[in-house]
Amino acid sequence: MKELVIIGGGASGMAAAIRASEEENTRVTLLERQARAGRKLAATGNGRCNLTNLGAEVHHYHGEDPGFANAALTEYPPERVLAFFRGLGLRTVTEYGGRVYPLSDHAGSVLDVLRLGLEKRNVSLLTAAPVTGIRREPTRFRIETPEGALTADSVILACGGCAGSRLGGVMDGYALAASLGHSRTALYPALTQLRTAPEYPRALKGIRVDARLRLKQGERILAETAGDVLFTDTGLSGTAVFEASRAAAGKNDLTAELCFFREAEEQLFADLTERRRRWQALEANRILTGAAQSRLGQMLCRYAGISGGAVAGEITDEQLHALASAMRAFCLPVTGVSGFETAQVTAGGLRTEEFDPETLRSRLVPGLYACGELLDVDGDCGGYNLQWAWASGLLAGELR
Ligand SMILES: Cc1cc2nc3c(=O)[nH]c(=O)nc-3n(C[C@H](O)[C@H](O)[C@H](O)COP(=O)(O)OP(=O)(O)OC[C@H]3O[C@@H](n4cnc5c(N)ncnc54)[C@H](O)[C@@H]3O)c2cc1C
Repeated sequence: MKELVIIGGGASGMAAAIRASEEENTRVTLLERQARAGRKLAATGNGRCNLTNLGAEVHHYHGEDPGFANAALTEYPPERVLAFFRGLGLRTVTEYGGRVYPLSDHAGSVLDVLRLGLEKRNVSLLTAAPVTGIRREPTRFRIETPEGALTADSVILACGGCAGSRLGGVMDGYALAASLGHSRTALYPALTQLRTAPEYPRALKGIRVDARLRLKQGERILAETAGDVLFTDTGLSGTAVFEASRAAAGKNDLTAELCFFREAEEQLFADLTERRRRWQALEANRILTGAAQSRLGQMLCRYAGISGGAVAGEITDEQLHALASAMRAFCLPVTGVSGFETAQVTAGGLRTEEFDPETLRSRLVPGLYACGELLDVDGDCGGYNLQWAWASGLLAGELR
């Protein structure tokens, strides 16, 4: 009987454990430092868990060698991952942009089927079992926990990254890998919020709009995204913001330019002129009534220099031009990106050149494997990170 210890009971570790336990001569122990396995998973996708994306191809992934992810994604494409979940009993639904969610609309369902899968396959899951050290002895590994040591023929490191620290993201995996001679790249938060000067976002706190976002450094466009933008008391959140946040890491002199209306500026100006004609006596800062949510409409007026004290008939052409321009290019100075606490994923990780992409086996330590976010692979927003966690976990679990 071969003994396998998997360190980390998150998405990739649970997938690896279920796959590995299919081999009759392998005994699998899954060690999780938190009180429950899959705590982060339960919080994914705003509690809905966007578990994969049907378009998950390698160009959606980043890292020093983004091509590293290709072998695992080819071996376990989204369709095969979904077949794995169907086999565990999960029913799913595909939404806009190829995003896949559990039919129950509840992340807990994904966790439930994984837990059931572990139970049925007799994986020994030890929770509240943080691994504090690991040593490669001549023929086996020695894995230290506060409750005592375990030994194993093979070890899979599935400790995740340090993003989402409120949900248990920690540096442990990097430290354990380093103790065995592995190295890592620089780490930075990705898929995270942008901090901006607080004046306007604070007034709009809680408003969610569909917008196009350009992240600019001076006149240079660093990223251009579209989708959900949510105003918070510290800045901007939402899918479009998460996608742009990678380009903001470590940079300064940044501006977030938001386009709320897709029509050409002349067309917007013509529409505003007609509104001014029809609503002469209306309070000036309500001129966008019915075109934008009222707080957003009023804020755009303020941004364009139109005060609430005047009436619409008094708005000058110059002010209407400024408003039409703000509707297409509302600019907020970016003061930074939020940290690992709120980031969804860690960019950077264990150096992929030290692992074989076809097997995820370490090139340095015989019998050692790694998977998931711990490696220097991170994906776009939209189910790509969990797809990587499943694909790499399942591949590592084959113990090739
Ligand atoms: C709020 C939030 C929402 C997200 N939503 C989505 C989404 O909808 N779709 C998507 O694709 N991605 C999403 N992600 C990203 C996704 O959750 C992660 O990329 C994915 O969980 C990574 O899987 P993993 O197995 O590598 O790490 P994790 O799932 O983080 O699991 C690692 C596990 O290892 C354990 N561990 C760490 N150190 C030790 C140790 N020393 N001993 C024992 N155990 C240890 C941790 O406690 C943890 O349970 C989201 C992330 C966050 C934070």
